[in-house]
Amino acid sequence: MAKDELMNYEKALEQFEVVIGLEVHVELNTKTKMFCGCRNEFGDEPNTNVCPICIGLPGSLPAVNKRAVESAIALGLALGCEIAPTGRFARKNYFYPDLAKNFQTSQYDEPIAFEGSLEVEVPSGKVFEVLIERAHMEEDAGKLTHVGGSTGRIQGAEYSLVDYNRAGVPLIEIVTKPIFGAGAEAPELAAAYVRSIRDFVKALNISDARMERGNVRCDANVSLRPHGTEKLGTRTETKNVNSLRSIERAVRYEIQRQAAILAKGGSIIQETRHWHEDKGSTSSGRPKSDADDYRYFPEPDLVPVQPSKDWIEAICETLPENPAARRKRLQAAWQFSDLEFRDVVNADLLDAIEETVSAGAKPQSARKWWSGELARIANSEGKDVTALGVTTAQVAQLAELVESGKINDRLAREVLGYVLAGEGDPAAIVTARGLEVVSDDTALIAAIDAALASQPDVLDAIREGRMQAAGAVIGAVMKAMAGSADAARVRELLIAKANQ
Ligand SMILES: [Zn+2]
Repeated sequence: MAKDELMNYEKALEQFEVVIGLEVHVELNTKTKMFCGCRNEFGDEPNTNVCPICIGLPGSLPAVNKRAVESAIALGLALGCEIAPTGRFARKNYFYPDLAKNFQTSQYDEPIAFEGSLEVEVPSGKVFEVLIERAHMEEDAGKLTHVGGSTGRIQGAEYSLVDYNRAGVPLIEIVTKPIFGAGAEAPELAAAYVRSIRDFVKALNISDARMERGNVRCDANVSLRPHGTEKLGTRTETKNVNSLRSIERAVRYEIQRQAAILAKGGSIIQETRHWHEDKGSTSSGRPKSDADDYRYFPEPDLVPVQPSKDWIEAICETLPENPAARRKRLQAAWQFSDLEFRDVVNADLLDAIEETVSAGAKPQSARKWWSGELARIANSEGKDVTALGVTTAQVAQLAELVESGKINDRLAREVLGYVLAGEGDPAAIVTARGLEVVSDDTALIAAIDAALASQPDVLDAIREGRMQAAGAVIGAVMKAMAGSADAARVRELLIAKANQ
C-alpha cells in the first residue's frame, strides 16, 4: 500500500477548518447480557456464555435487561440528556460472521436519551462544550480472531475463529453533534471527550471502562472545509480506536492526510478507516454512504421501554459528582501542583489516593506511596498498581508509621514488602518483627559512645565546625542498630554531645 501523503499540521490548519464527530461505545458491566440471561464476563472460555437467544435461533424470545436500561438512563442524565418516555428497539439488518442473528438489536429513531451536552477541558486549559445528539442502547457483536496472517486482520489469514461470548453484551452508543471550532486542538479535544465519558461511566459504575479491553471505544469522524465556507466536507470514520493516545493521533493523522488530498484538488472518499497503532497511520476500510440502508424496522419481539418518571427521578438521586468538578475539588483540597495532579490523573490513582487520605494519610504521603514505591513495584511485576493486593487502609497506616517517626523510609519499604507478601497490616508487622525505630535516646547514646571509642577525634572535629566528620559516627551507629535508628536523631545527639 502506497504511503499517504501528509500535509504539515500547522499548514493544514491555516488552510482548513476541522470538524469532528465522535461515537463512543461503552460496554456495560451488567451481570448478564442485554436480552438473555447469559453471563457477561470478559475472558471466559470461547462460546461458553451463549444461548438460543444471543445467537438468534428461530423461535427464541429476547427480554430487556432492566439493569442495562437503568445504566443507560443514568448515563443519559449524567450527560444532561432528556430521557425518552418511550422508546422502541429496532433491528439493524446486516450480515457479518460475528453477528449470528444477521441483525443487531439497536435503537434507531427512538433513542433512550437525546440532546445533552458535556463540558470538556483540553490540556491547554480551554473548555469546550460538546453537544450530544443521542445515546442509545444496543448489543455487541461476537469477536472474530483471524489466524495465520501477519497483521491479525482478515487479509492474508488462513482461517477465522468466532467467539459469541460477546454477542449480546449490552452497549450504550453516545453520538455527538458535529464539533466545530476546536482548531488545532481537535485531536486533544477528541481524546479529552472520550476520557470524560470514560470517567463518567466509571463514576457511575456502569462499565469496567477498561479501554485496552475495548470496554470504551471510539469511532472518530473527521472532515475538513476551507475556512469561511458553510458546506461540510466529506468525512471519514476511523473505527474502534481504543486508547486516548491513539484517538488523538488518529484524528491528527486524518487532518494531515485529508488536507494533502484537498490541497491538490483531490476529493475525500467517504469511508470507514482502520487505525494502525504500530505505523501511526490509518488505512482504508469500507465505503460508507449516508444512505447506507440497514433496513431498520421495529423489533417485533420486544415491548417498548417506558421508564416511569419515578424511576428516572430515583436514578437521578443516585448520580455521582461530575468527574471534572470532583477533580477540581480534590486538587484544591490536596494542594497538589498541576503537574503532580496531572500525573495522578494519568496514572488513574485518584480513587486510591482519595481512599488513602480518608483512611488518615496526608495527601502528599498518599501520593508519594502510590505514584512512587507502589507504582515502581507494579511496573516491575507488570501489574496494575491497584491490583498489587495492598489496601488503601494499609498504605495509610504505613504513611502514619513514617509520619510519627516509628519507622523510617527504608524500614517502611521493608514493611511494605511484608504486607505484599501477605503478612498483614503494617503496624502488626512492625511489632511482630521488632522493626520499630529506636527512639529511646539511652540506647542511641550508648551506641554513639561505642562508636566514639574508636574515633575519639570526631568530637573535636565537630566543635571546630567540620561536620562531615560526624558521618562516620552516624554510619557506625546506624550499622550497630541494624538500620532501626533515626539518623537525624543520632546526628542531633552527637552534636549535643560535642557541645556539652
Ligand atoms: Zn444468551
